[in-house]
Amino acid sequence: MKRPIYLDNHATTPVDPQVLEAMLPYFTEQFGNPASAGHMYGWEASAAVERAREIIASSIGAEPEEIVFTSGATEANNLAIKGVAEAYFEKGRHIVTVQTEHRAVLDPCAYLETLGFEITYLPVQANGLLDLSLLETALRKDTVLVSVMAANNEIGVLQPIAQIGALCHERGILFHCDAAQAIAKIAINVQTQNIDLLSLTAHKIYGPKGIGALYVRRKNPRVNLAPQLHGGGQERGRRSGTLYTPQIVGFAKAVELGLAQMTEENTRIRKLRDRLWAHLKTIEGIHLNGDLEQRLPQNLNVSFEKIDGAALLLGLRNTVALSTGSACSSGKPSHVLTALGRSPDLCRASLRFGLGRFTTAPELDTVASSLSQTITTLQKIPSKAP
Ligand SMILES: *Cc1c(COP(=O)(O)O)cnc(C)c1O
Repeated sequence: MKRPIYLDNHATTPVDPQVLEAMLPYFTEQFGNPASAGHMYGWEASAAVERAREIIASSIGAEPEEIVFTSGATEANNLAIKGVAEAYFEKGRHIVTVQTEHRAVLDPCAYLETLGFEITYLPVQANGLLDLSLLETALRKDTVLVSVMAANNEIGVLQPIAQIGALCHERGILFHCDAAQAIAKIAINVQTQNIDLLSLTAHKIYGPKGIGALYVRRKNPRVNLAPQLHGGGQERGRRSGTLYTPQIVGFAKAVELGLAQMTEENTRIRKLRDRLWAHLKTIEGIHLNGDLEQRLPQNLNVSFEKIDGAALLLGLRNTVALSTGSACSSGKPSHVLTALGRSPDLCRASLRFGLGRFTTAPELDTVASSLSQTITTLQKIPSKAP
């Protein structure tokens, strides 16, 4: 069977062949434990990890000691939010976040609520962007942390993180940013954007799964963090567990490649995305979800009127692999689209296009014409959706 065209690059990306090549020696020859200080195997692995740490740190304007390797952005978000909540417990128990954040931010926050913390979940405007004046009024004396993502994983919108960072720093409040979808796609600089904690992951940028990092600011201010994994004391005690050398090396290679081609790639992909949108917007009853300008060039997210979401995916699945607005396995309408004010039916009949490094113009033409056909057919059938 012919494999469908892959347009689910916000879910994960293939490992770039150059990344895989960089990783391979660390599985078989240079396999030592970076913590083994007594022999060459350990030294080699440790040197590779520290080189990777430098590359990743410098890509965001940080120092190597400020990088804590984790299993991905989920763990980084958990470490940032729960780690700060625990460490600043005496100072305050109020956290501010946004309704459209990833589950890996919302769920640690919900967990903290069960422990007595107070969380403010800010709404967004119809275009998916945070209204800064709402944020400003939400900040209190006992607010210890603000967590806002850089780029949304469903609708690709870019939150004004530099302004959010400035607002937080004026008031001595820590700013955490989930940049899983943003790294190597938009410029991130923890200094100019006043970010205190930044979550990263490799597998959305053509690196391997199972590796990510948390940036933790060391000065102006120094961020205290209560570790969430206790054990061998790796990562200066902030995250115990044997470092996964091949994944770390691959992560750094992915960051390096991503940054080197970022500007050029973004121009190419934006053209492809805009052409796709030009095709699609002629379809009757289509709605664009999220702001078109303040948005990742890789992303398009649309809803269709009077279409059954399940039938739509079924009609497309042999041609194209992408996600719908009915989040994950639950079949519940997307919390992100709901926060934009979309009706449950529009949420269900939505498609997220995630373009990537290997997406081509002919692929998108195929997808656009297949989609138009499917929609025309489905609109002729009286759907269950009112
Ligand atoms: C993918 C993603 C995560 C989770 O990252 P993992 O590395 O898979 O744990 C968190 N936040 C956002 C915005 C994401 O897109």
